[in-house]
Amino acid sequence: RAPDTLDDQLLKVVVIGDVTVGKTSFIQRYVNNTYKEGYKATIGVDFSLKQIRWSNTCSIKLQLWDIAGQERFASITRAYYRGADGCFLLFDLSNSATLRRAARWKEDLDAKCRLPDGSPVPCLLLANKSDLRQRQVTKEEIRDLCQKYAFVGCREVSVKDNINVAESVRFLVDIIMGQS
Ligand code: GDP
Ligand code: MG
Repeated sequence: RAPDTLDDQLLKVVVIGDVTVGKTSFIQRYVNNTYKEGYKATIGVDFSLKQIRWSNTCSIKLQLWDIAGQERFASITRAYYRGADGCFLLFDLSNSATLRRAARWKEDLDAKCRLPDGSPVPCLLLANKSDLRQRQVTKEEIRDLCQKYAFVGCREVSVKDNINVAESVRFLVDIIMGQS
């Protein structure tokens, strides 16, 4: 990705996955370092912005797009994905159905959105709620899905305990910035 200017580069990154997997919590944790227990449904589409220092000459305005999560097969996702530079796809380690539906989300993304050069939008699979003991998904299942659906990688995270959140963002931004 060639820098637009010496200063800010705007990146659009969409966050997707089923309802209650932790999308809003992930964004709030990364952008504000806050975490709230208790579920508050996201209505419509929301945005958060975080400025990150990329190098001495370049900073990035990372725009994180949040969505309720019920929209997977609705036409709204096409508009939501439009112009995306990258994607985080979350599922809940304590709910195996959300992993199965992660495959459907990835298919929806790849069918509706491409980078300008036609390649798939780089998408990082995030297995959230690693703090919970009632795990329903094995590492093998995650790895298999990651390979089969051509994710750029997968990470286990706990938004609650702030494990692997910033690292995951850094990993995806590195991949986005490495693309020309
Ligand atoms: P969204 O519908 O995908 O936006 O999910 P939310 O971010 O609203 O989170 C749904 C519920 O999961 C909330 O009650 C959160 O407090 C909880 N949650 C989010 N992340 C974690 C986590 O890492 N661990 C645990 N135990 N709960 C989490
Ligand atoms: Mg939400």
